[in-house]
Amino acid sequence: MKTKVLLSLAALSVCLAVADTSPIFTGESWWNHVKYLADDKLEGRDTGSRGEREAQKYAVEQLKKAGAQPAGVKGFYQPVKFVSRQIVEKDSSLTLIRDGKPESLVLGHDAIISTRVMPAPEVSAPLVFVGYGLNVPEAHYDDFAGLDLHGKIVVILNGSPSDIPGALASHYQTQSERWKALRAAGAIGTVNVMNPASMDIPWPRIALNRTHPSMDLDYPEFDETEDDQLAVTINPASADKLFAGSGHTFAELAALGKDRKPLPHFPLTVSLEAKTRVEVKKIESANIVAKIPGSDPALKEEYVVLSAHLDHVGIGEPVNGDRIYNGAMDNGSGSALVLDMAHSFKQHPEKLKRSLLLILVTGEEKGLLGSKYFAAHPTVPPKSIVADVNVDMFLPIVPLKILTVEGLDESDLGDRAREVAQSLGVKVQPDPEPQRNLFIRSDQYNFIRHGVPSIAMSVGAEPGSPEQKTFKDWLTMRYHAPSDDINQPVDLAAAAKYEDIVRALLINVANENAAPEWKPDSFFRRFANAM
Ligand SMILES: [Zn+2]
Repeated sequence: MKTKVLLSLAALSVCLAVADTSPIFTGESWWNHVKYLADDKLEGRDTGSRGEREAQKYAVEQLKKAGAQPAGVKGFYQPVKFVSRQIVEKDSSLTLIRDGKPESLVLGHDAIISTRVMPAPEVSAPLVFVGYGLNVPEAHYDDFAGLDLHGKIVVILNGSPSDIPGALASHYQTQSERWKALRAAGAIGTVNVMNPASMDIPWPRIALNRTHPSMDLDYPEFDETEDDQLAVTINPASADKLFAGSGHTFAELAALGKDRKPLPHFPLTVSLEAKTRVEVKKIESANIVAKIPGSDPALKEEYVVLSAHLDHVGIGEPVNGDRIYNGAMDNGSGSALVLDMAHSFKQHPEKLKRSLLLILVTGEEKGLLGSKYFAAHPTVPPKSIVADVNVDMFLPIVPLKILTVEGLDESDLGDRAREVAQSLGVKVQPDPEPQRNLFIRSDQYNFIRHGVPSIAMSVGAEPGSPEQKTFKDWLTMRYHAPSDDINQPVDLAAAAKYEDIVRALLINVANENAAPEWKPDSFFRRFANAM
């Protein structure tokens, strides 16, 4: 029954598009917003920076022009406070102790000390390899069972075994869930060895910006790493320094990790000593929140969220002489879509029963922080948010023939996205690379944690296709690099079609009588039940 209604609604919107000779989206106005946001003068929109404030000013002007109403705390703005942490590498060190002899790790080359966690000034502890470092009660899977982790630092190979469903594995790899389990087991820190099979960015580029400050929300309620004294990331090329003498090689472990096979657990013969000095600063930024009010007397009090992060990583170490990390696709593209969508509802009005809430969050690149704050302190009543459609780096760099939907099978919001896309001639697939954890790597995750059915969609590729190679090359070369700028190839028709899908989906969710719901067997349903 529901399916039929959905199809007819989707068909209706197609008819409207055909009847009106001018298409709603051509990609051009979208690209103009991207060009503004990714211009060098916005300096890569780092959280709390002058460039980000410029971007926010532009967004507010555009939202006003489009007739959207302020829905923040101070007009369109919802202020958010951050603490910024920057490592002072000359006063920091990592040393392996083997048979009482010290062996230094070279910061940047072998390892990086993460400041996502506030490191203790001095830590010294034995190391234990705990495989994927996951405790997933639903799957009766526990990497920590039978191990003595008290006072130890655990060594983890990033990834998950193939028999744990992708979304579930992603959830338990979040910093907060993982640390909860490790803290309960008595561990005092983590060493993550990057999994060569799932690294989006090559190590030299990761290491390049390692001393760039990291940030956290500056409110005690968000502290998820209590008692975590050290977080280190290891270059897979140097990982054998840890495993030497253990009876295992990194090549052997990486081969298992690549195929998502079970991993062994064993104590290492080395221990780790860390000395760190961190400079701490306070930073302020804001989320931008606007609404397009619905017209149904009851349903207009409910909100369909369209979200995107406006921040990027700012100015960093130069690559080919360029220091500005413009973030055209990440996420000028999604922010531009939100602005373009607002304009589309002014130029092509649509009777909406529910209201739309347009949110441009800050601090995504620092760990989904702006959305974390918003989801905990929404500017509309918490229970009034019925869905989140998040747009982050949807990559219209190849024709849109297939749409990848994160969370496709978790809620009927996924079903609706599938039907809308198919009605517009676009195939739909779930995430073909669950090991990249995209479902938890953008802002939709904070809505999910608060019970809201959410999805994130991007232009997809069939596994093994030339388009897939285009995406892979893009990640290697341009993702979080200065070359993610406006001088890159873009497919305006793909962007326009993607916008058609988002608009039709928003209209569907705003106007269907029933609000989206988690599937009865979805793991994520628990967060809705807990609300
Ligand atoms: Zn990013």
